[in-house]
Amino acid sequence: MTTPENPEAAESPDDVLRELASWHEEVRAQFPILRAEPGLAYLDSAATSQKPQAVLDAVQGYLTTSNANSGRGSYPWANRTTALVAQARRQVAQSLGDPDPDRSQVVLTSGATEALRLVARDWLAAQLADGDEVIVPFADHQANISPWQEVRDLLARQGVRVVLRPMPYQRGSGDYDHVALAEQVGARTRFVAATHVHHVYGNDMNVHRVRAAVGPHVPICLDASQSVGHQPIRLDALDVDFVAFSGHKALALPGTGALWARQARGPELRPGGWSGTPNTVGAVSLSAALDWLRDTDTGRVHRWTRALTARLTDALSRLGSYQVLGCRTSLAAGSTVQRRQSLVSFRHRAIPSGDLGFILFDRGLMVRSDQHCQGASGEKTGSVRVSTHAYTAVEEIDRLVEALRALD
Ligand code: PMP
Repeated sequence: MTTPENPEAAESPDDVLRELASWHEEVRAQFPILRAEPGLAYLDSAATSQKPQAVLDAVQGYLTTSNANSGRGSYPWANRTTALVAQARRQVAQSLGDPDPDRSQVVLTSGATEALRLVARDWLAAQLADGDEVIVPFADHQANISPWQEVRDLLARQGVRVVLRPMPYQRGSGDYDHVALAEQVGARTRFVAATHVHHVYGNDMNVHRVRAAVGPHVPICLDASQSVGHQPIRLDALDVDFVAFSGHKALALPGTGALWARQARGPELRPGGWSGTPNTVGAVSLSAALDWLRDTDTGRVHRWTRALTARLTDALSRLGSYQVLGCRTSLAAGSTVQRRQSLVSFRHRAIPSGDLGFILFDRGLMVRSDQHCQGASGEKTGSVRVSTHAYTAVEEIDRLVEALRALD
């Protein structure tokens, strides 16, 4: 059984890939862009995902039957658009397993960056007093750092001094250091920003331990950009107060994302200002994407993508020239837990990562090679990141491994 304290025992990646092979084939066939250029392997799903036909159809259907503005007008197309946007917000809450949707709210945003900034500007800024402290994960994505710095700077201009304390990390693994975190938390700690799955290390960051370390009263804001759409999310088990994610990484259109917020540990979030016209097409695409993920089975997406990255991590650990970043405990086959999720970052010991990216693209392999928008306490040099989704094929990972082996 899976419990927070007893992570899922590792499944053999080969067994999972064999068991889910026909499921995967059906899934992959639903992504038209992958048929358009079969010679290319898209291995950058952590940056943004490809879109299934169901999402494309929903967008086309909406734009060709009922495109209008939302929250304005009383004719049928406008009413339908208003209902579709409201439905997308409800679906976000449902897809996150919100145990109490009456006491929470969902704001549709342009992505995770806007969602996190909304928490900072429209909620946190009003909660902080002189001398208060916020814990910030400076080795996570910059989108989960800048908003808290902006709040500090905004309040400093008003004479309110807020201290940003660094989230402690364990050396080498990329994990949070929960023991040091518990020591870091004090009477002035008002807010903790954390990440569900790290966008460079691929680790599940054990958020339940963040809650245990900071105690029951401090609000936690979770950046779930690399987990939503890749694994079933259960908010009741996570016990956090805000969840931000990118819709576009979860199969919806570019320019989509959402913030889920509840008022358990503070006043209600009140997004400020006149909201203007929402991204109606984006909302339609997000609804369709969340439906697709539910029907396709996010649990299988989770098992498939973890098995692919375990296969890749395992292969890399057998090649002498590569250093895999983060997640030492899940170096695939011999491991008893699978904490590495859908992505792997690595370096070649002699070839700069930028060059390696070009070499791999020459072989039709589209990976990300740079510093991945990691914060100032993150990696000092770039790496190659390979990231997967339900549509990623075993053959694509094997082609990548062959290309890497040739450079070993
Ligand atoms: N957080 C993480 C962990 C991410 O990987 C990303 C996207 N690279 C973001 C935040 C920013 O998301 P968005 O592009 O939706 O603003």
